[in-house]
This record gives sequence, C-alpha cells and structure tokens, in this order.
Amino acid sequence: MIIHLKKETTSDQAASLGQKLEAIHFKTGDQDILVTSAKVKELPKEAASYTDEFFPMETDIQLASSTYKDGKRSIQLGKNAIGGDSNNTMLIAGPCSIESWEQITEVAEVLKKNNITTLRAGCFKPRTSPYTFQGLGEEGIKMLVEVRKQYGFNIITEVKDSSHVDLVIENADIVQIGAKAMYDQSILRRCGESRKPILLKRGFGTTLQEFVQAAEFILSGGNENVILCERGIRTFETKTRFTLDLCGVAFLKEYTNLPIVVDPSHAMGYRYGVADLTRASVAMGVEGLLIECHPTPEKAKSDAAQQLNLKEFQEMYDTLQPIAAAIGRKMI
Ligand code: PEP
Ligand code: MN
Repeated sequence: MIIHLKKETTSDQAASLGQKLEAIHFKTGDQDILVTSAKVKELPKEAASYTDEFFPMETDIQLASSTYKDGKRSIQLGKNAIGGDSNNTMLIAGPCSIESWEQITEVAEVLKKNNITTLRAGCFKPRTSPYTFQGLGEEGIKMLVEVRKQYGFNIITEVKDSSHVDLVIENADIVQIGAKAMYDQSILRRCGESRKPILLKRGFGTTLQEFVQAAEFILSGGNENVILCERGIRTFETKTRFTLDLCGVAFLKEYTNLPIVVDPSHAMGYRYGVADLTRASVAMGVEGLLIECHPTPEKAKSDAAQQLNLKEFQEMYDTLQPIAAAIGRKMI
C-alpha cells in the first residue's frame, strides 16, 4: 500500500510511523510517502490520523503502477522531456563502447546533423569474458564529458558495478543500469538516492514482475526518474541473440507509469534486423529507442555484429519520423 501523509506531518512522525508499519519512507518534493508490502490491503489504524490519501495495490509493482499514477511520468532530459504529455520518442544512439576520440566524434557528427540530442557509449563494459575489451573506464567518461561540452548532447553511459556508480552518477545525464547489473541492489539503491534519470535494462532472464520490482528499488529511494528498457530475453531460439519481447512492452505500457525505451540492437544481435525492429518499436508508441552504431562496426571492440554503420544508421533514421507521425508522435 502507498500512503501519502498529510502535509503537516513532521519528518520524525513520518519516520516513526514508517518503522511501526515496516514501510519504506521517502519524500518527493514536500510529500512524505510510506510504502508497505502490497499484502496490506486496509489502512493500518496507527496511520489513520496522519493519512491524506492511500492506495491499496495488487502486487509489489506499486510506485511504478498505472493504478497509482495514470499516464507516463514525465522525465526531463536537458531541454526535452519524454513521457507526460510530450509525445516525444527519443532516439538514443552511439557505439557499444567508446574506443577513441576519433570514433566518438565521427558518431557525434552524424547525431548532430540529425538533431539527435542523446549520445550513448559504454565505458565500463559488463563483458561475458574477462579476456575481452573491458572498456576505457574513467578515461572514457572524461572523453564523453568533453563530447558533451563540444556538442551539447545528453550523455548516457552504464554502471557495471558499485565501484564506479558515484563516478557515473556525477558525470552522466542519464545512468544506464545494464541487463547483468539489474539485480545489484547496491546499484539500485544508490541510483534511488540520486535524482538523475536512470535507464534500467531488463535482465535477459527476468520476468516483467521482477523487472518492474527492480525499478521499485530506485523509485522507493525517492528518485522518480526511472525509464524501463526492454533489450531482449533469452528463449529457446538461437538464430537471433535474444528475443525482443514486444508483448512485454505492451504490458509495461498498459500497467506501468514509467517511460519505455526499446533496444533492438542487443535483442537482435545482428545488424540485419535492427532497422525493422526499430520501426516496429516506434510504431508501438514507446518513449525511446536505443540503437548501437559505429563508424566501422567490423572493427568494434564489443558487439561488432549488431552495430549499424553510419550510413545504415542514417538510412534507418530517415524512415522513423513518418512512422512516429502516423501515431501522433515525434522523434527527437
Ligand atoms: C550495452 O548496452 O552495451 C549492453 C551491454 O547492454 P545489456 O546490458 O542490455 O546487455
Ligand atoms: Mn552493446
């Protein structure tokens, strides 16, 4: 159950009531909020005199639920917003890993030419093998900060483990939590203390319930800026790298209040399918897309098979605006 306390409740009263009810207590703006387990269906007697409004919930998808807040939460990203009344579909693009200044600026030029505002590149890569390229780490972050300075993009990069979570929160405009880090509660809780937008990817063996409950760890820290990212799940199929769960996207659209980004690049794993899956996702009316592109994908140090080259990226991008417009949305 979500309980909104009356404005005159002091922080001490709110905290002590939270303890009694074994609830999480946090504040958004000047609103004190308590969240108990969803098993609590009736307002506890101790809470009655402090309560302004309360919301019994069916499952522990609570703060993220469309029963609690109808419509998508609005998230401000630089000058643009996604969710809320905006109807924007944001293209997030860039290489899997930042590899060099030449590589990242070549990508940056293409984004700038198309008025794309959000550049993504990984610095701390959660690779499956310890013997492969692990990312440029802090040196990569410094380069991304310099790219932002020169081009004015929003920068998104990922957290792999808690050793660099503060560094990423401090420097990125949007913090990506990857599919493998999605269960790391130290990362989730730290991101909950921050107010930076967080792009939370779905683990490839994660049910929709578990995925949204991971988002609840961030939301219940008081960070309202959470974006969900579907990036493919593991099924019996081996011809593609993963299976893009567009049924899951439909569920998240219907039952949650969080903006949704679809990542066809990691789902497909091969560049040949990425443009088609991107168009299908735009047609679903999601808030964003995450696409990997690289000046020379065949030489990429990670995810070489799935990254579009810059010509392929441009050709795909040119087809998106009319699809977005057909359903009353705009690519940004
Ligand atoms: C990535 O975005 O480059 C990445 C590693 O993605 P995922 O966490 O979805 O595997
Ligand atoms: Mn990648």
